[in-house]
Amino acid sequence: MDPTESDRIIPATTNHTRYQSIGPTGPEEQASPVQHKVGAVALVAMAVLLFSGVVVCGLTATDDRPFFNNGTHAFAPTVIFISLDGTVNQDLEFHITPVLSAMADNGVRAEYMTPSFPPITFPNHWSLVTGLYPEAHGIVGNYFYDANLNDSFYYKSPDKSWDSKWWGGEPIWITAVQQNKKSGVIMWPGCSTEINGVRPSYSVAFHDHVTADDKVDQVFDWIDLPLEDRPQFIGMYVPEVDQSGHANGPYANEASHFSLHLADQSIGRLLDGLKQRNLTDIVNVIVVSDHGMSATDSSRLIYYDDVLTQQELDLIWTIEAFPMLGIRPRLDVDQDKAVETLYQAFRRLYDSLETPHFKVYKKQDFPDRFHFRDNVRIPPLLVLPDPGWNLITHKDYRGGSPYQPRGVHGYDNLSPESRAIFVAQGPNFPKGKTATPFWNVELYNVMSRILNLKPASNNSTLNGILDISE
Ligand SMILES: [Zn+2]
Repeated sequence: MDPTESDRIIPATTNHTRYQSIGPTGPEEQASPVQHKVGAVALVAMAVLLFSGVVVCGLTATDDRPFFNNGTHAFAPTVIFISLDGTVNQDLEFHITPVLSAMADNGVRAEYMTPSFPPITFPNHWSLVTGLYPEAHGIVGNYFYDANLNDSFYYKSPDKSWDSKWWGGEPIWITAVQQNKKSGVIMWPGCSTEINGVRPSYSVAFHDHVTADDKVDQVFDWIDLPLEDRPQFIGMYVPEVDQSGHANGPYANEASHFSLHLADQSIGRLLDGLKQRNLTDIVNVIVVSDHGMSATDSSRLIYYDDVLTQQELDLIWTIEAFPMLGIRPRLDVDQDKAVETLYQAFRRLYDSLETPHFKVYKKQDFPDRFHFRDNVRIPPLLVLPDPGWNLITHKDYRGGSPYQPRGVHGYDNLSPESRAIFVAQGPNFPKGKTATPFWNVELYNVMSRILNLKPASNNSTLNGILDISE
C-alpha cells in the first residue's frame, strides 16, 4: 500500500502518444467466446424464464492472454465494479449522465438489470458480489431476526453486522484472494467482514461523508501499485444517489438529479485517469445500481390500523423488510396461531378496500419467482404493497406535510421502477451494444470469467456470458 514513487504508474499528462499498447486492446482482437465450463452450480433455474433467447455474442474470456501491457507496465485482467446505490434505470434517459452515456457508447448498457428480491441495499449488494439470491446468502434485509441465532442483524450497527455469522456465500473479493489474486473494496456492504477466514487484500470500511472523488483517488492508489500488489478486483460503493432519492424522490427532481450528475462526474474522473494511464482498453469498468426507487405520495397510503384491532396489532413483534411488512409475531405467543390471526386480519383489510394495492402472503405461499422463502430469517407473514404505496399506521404519519421518505424501494423487483442500471466498458465488452435484461445474480460469474477465477456455487444461469444484441 505504500509503493515508492518509481513503482507507480505516472499518468501521462503531456504526451499520450508515448504509450503504445502492446496487449489486446479490443474485442475484435480476441478469440470468439470461449465456452469453458466454470463449474458453477445453478441452485435455482427460474431466471431462465427471463433469458429464453439464445445466448449469442457475450464476453470474451481472457484465459489464453492473461496479461496486458499499457506500454510501461504489465496488467492482469482487472475489474473496477462501482455501485451507484438507488440509481433508477430510467434516470439514465434524462441526459444528466453524459459519462455513463459515453460508457454505453464505448461498451455495453443493459436494457435494465433486475435486482433480487427484496430490492433493498444490503441484500442486493451481497447478491451482486456472490451471485446468490438473498434467501441463499442470508442477508434478507437491512435488518432481520434469526431465530436459530436468537440474534438480530442491523446494518447500521457494525458491532453486529460485521460478524461473519450473518454473511453466507462467497463474495468475488474473497474468491480472488483464495485463488491468489488481490482485491480491494471501498465501503461495499460486507467488505469489512471475514469470510471463510479470509478478508479482501485491501478494504476501506464504510464512513459517511467520503466523496465519490475521494474513493476514485483510492482506486488510483491501488491501480498504481506494482503488479504483485495491485488488486485485480476493485469494488467501490457510492451512496449519495440513494440518499437523495429517499429525501427528494426519484424522478424529475433537481436535487436527485444533481447527486446523480455528481456521481457521473466522479466516474468521468475515473475514466479520465484510466485514459491518462493508457488503461482504457485494459481495465474493465462496470457501473451498476442495487435497485431503482419509487416515488411515494400522501395519496398512496394504506392505514392498516383502520382495520386491524389493537389486540391484533399487539401480536406484532417486529416489522422487517420495509416497505414490505415482513411481520414476526411476539415470541411469547403461539406462532402459528398468531400468524393465522394476522393473516386473516390483513385479508380483512384487503377486502375492505375497493382497490387494495397490496397483497398478503404466508411465507410458504410467497410466489416462487421472488426466490424469497427458503430461509429462517424471512418473516412468516409478508404484506407487499404495490410500487409507490406504503402500509402505515396513524402513528407513523398524521398528514399535514408531504409524506417522507419521498422515495422508497423494496417493492416487487420486476416492477419497472425497481430496475437497476448496468453499464460497462473495457477489453471484455464489445462496443456500443445492448445487453438483454438479466438478474443481478449473473454478475458474479461474469466477473469470475473476466478474472479467470473458478466461481463458488451460485444462482446464475448464464455461465458468465451476457446475452448481448447488435
Ligand atoms: Zn440501495
